[in-house]
Amino acid sequence: MELPTRKWTMAIDLDKCTGCGACVIACHAENNVPIHTAFQISQGRAMHWMHIERYWDGKYPEVGAHFLPLLCQQCSRAPCEPVCPVYAAVRSPRENLNLQIYNRCVGTRYCQNNDPYKVRFFNFFDPQFDAPLTEQLNPDVTVRTAGVMEKCTFCVQRIRRAEEKALVEGRALRDGEVVPACVQTCPPAALIFGDLNDPNSQVASIVATDSRQFRLLDNLGTEPSVYYLKGGKSHVV
Ligand code: SF4
Repeated sequence: MELPTRKWTMAIDLDKCTGCGACVIACHAENNVPIHTAFQISQGRAMHWMHIERYWDGKYPEVGAHFLPLLCQQCSRAPCEPVCPVYAAVRSPRENLNLQIYNRCVGTRYCQNNDPYKVRFFNFFDPQFDAPLTEQLNPDVTVRTAGVMEKCTFCVQRIRRAEEKALVEGRALRDGEVVPACVQTCPPAALIFGDLNDPNSQVASIVATDSRQFRLLDNLGTEPSVYYLKGGKSHVV
């Protein structure tokens, strides 16, 4: 059976995001992303497939904050792809996903340099998971070693699992059936994920009708698959 062509897309409502960081923790737990030490971070080696950008608003003491969850934008014209000399950063045309083939990566980091969003991370160290964290590593996700580049995959393992389940049950994949870890965890449901090629999906409806939408650095022509919905009021801190 031929699988349908998809355009996996995420919408992020900045009005709902409170900057709690639950999505970041969920991403670490789901994707076996190591937690780096304070020393490693001080050396510029932080590793978060997803992180929260903060923007301050107003003057003390009336200071508010805007939060923007930042992850791989899964661009349709990804600048990281053509610069990889070994095709480790490649496009999945059927799913419009920007894949990272770990066992091809030779660590030139050209992709990271050509990434305008700075959401690709290089493994400078072999990952350390202190016990009992070793017991909770996700068996569906490779634990990467030093020397390779990594980044958000839209939880491709969850996409695969949902597609295989629908295939076995002989039915089409339903909207909302694929739930990346960050989407599952967000308390105010600020993140919405789905297939833009499905005109009845929630994400397609948001992209078609919500006037607050914008894409990061859209003028570069990268065609990101992440749409942000502009927030209004800042959050009081
Ligand atoms: S979990 Fe939701 S509310 Fe919290 S930081 Fe992430 S997107 Fe924002």
